[in-house]
Amino acid sequence: MPHSEPSSNKRPGVVVPLVDFNRCEGKDACAVVCPYDVFDVRKIDREDYLELSLIGKVKNRVHGGKVAYTPNADQCMACGLCVKACPEKAIKLVKASSLTPGA
Ligand code: SF4
Repeated sequence: MPHSEPSSNKRPGVVVPLVDFNRCEGKDACAVVCPYDVFDVRKIDREDYLELSLIGKVKNRVHGGKVAYTPNADQCMACGLCVKACPEKAIKLVKASSLTPGA
């Protein structure tokens, strides 16, 4: 019986991590586990901060004003390690094609 290909898509960037900044506390777990250097945990951009909920703003300030950006999302191999590692359950994997350009 021939081996079938793994069900996950092996082309990079087809599936990408989507970080909920209202949950993210910039703890770096995703950046540590990602084998493809997808994440950059840094100070939140002002426009992203302004879009947070009230609770999200408070959380962000309490936890040092950092969140996980995904500058190398096009390298994501959908391994799921970041989703499992995030203590805040702030990351989900989505099809890149489902994201709104510029969002
Ligand atoms: S799913 Fe894997 S490759 Fe993609 S961002 Fe998360 S840890 Fe990195």
